Amino acid sequence: MLLAGQYKVNILNTGWFAMDGGAVFGVIPKVLWNKHVDCDNKNRVQMSCNCLLLEKGSQKILIDTGIGTNLQEKLKKIYKVENDIDNLNNSLSNLGITKNDITDVIITHLHFDHSGGMITYHDGISRPTFPNANYYVSKKNYNWAIDPCKIDLASYMKRNFLPLFQSGKLQFLSDQNKFEGIEIIQSNGHTPGLISIVIQDLKQPIFYCSDMIPSSFHIPTPWISSFDLFPLALIKEKDKFLQRAVEENWLIVFPHDPKNKAATIDYGSKYFRLKEVFTTI
Ligand SMILES: [Zn+2]
Repeated sequence: MLLAGQYKVNILNTGWFAMDGGAVFGVIPKVLWNKHVDCDNKNRVQMSCNCLLLEKGSQKILIDTGIGTNLQEKLKKIYKVENDIDNLNNSLSNLGITKNDITDVIITHLHFDHSGGMITYHDGISRPTFPNANYYVSKKNYNWAIDPCKIDLASYMKRNFLPLFQSGKLQFLSDQNKFEGIEIIQSNGHTPGLISIVIQDLKQPIFYCSDMIPSSFHIPTPWISSFDLFPLALIKEKDKFLQRAVEENWLIVFPHDPKNKAATIDYGSKYFRLKEVFTTI
């Protein structure tokens, strides 16, 4: 558990999945990424789905929800989804928190590995997983998600979010002052309207970067994934926020790193580099 500003912060492991290493590391040759990350016999690298829980008194804010339980069997096999033991429910239970306690859910973007846990289906009927929570996403990302381009069509599964929007439970996060002590950042390189958050703190703010920087391996500027829709925009965004991370001593929490939960960074000879890495928090 961490403390940042007014918030208690926990990183929740909501499960595991695997993606093709070539897609995860874009133009970086396998001879380089494979020095740092193992892959299976289908070239897939294991990734975690780490979400954040912020607590301030009775306010309990969940940032992202992981893959959830609604993915079809065929896709679970393709992505090697494992969330029977490590999942959102168990991670919350370990902290003595129930789904009813969650007051707010901020979804960084509606890709299935971040939004799949928002809704639970029983006998084909959808219900909000967190019945007492208000759900938030950026308007820009929602508009993209309901009409994505062909390259990221498969990542946006409308059954994960459309029923919530239609019922009025999914709102657009436009007022940055809604969450006191939390800076909301919007970027567009990974996908339009991606939200990242900075939990303000005088000594060490916490930066949940979402897929702007999916893992600690993606800290060097050119290490970006093939899923990033606008690579040149992403590189500019990364450089801008990683510079702030150095200057303001941010602790960066990664959404998909299989081992390193968080890290601080510094300037390197060519690119930014990891400074201190944390495998447990
Ligand atoms: Zn994504």
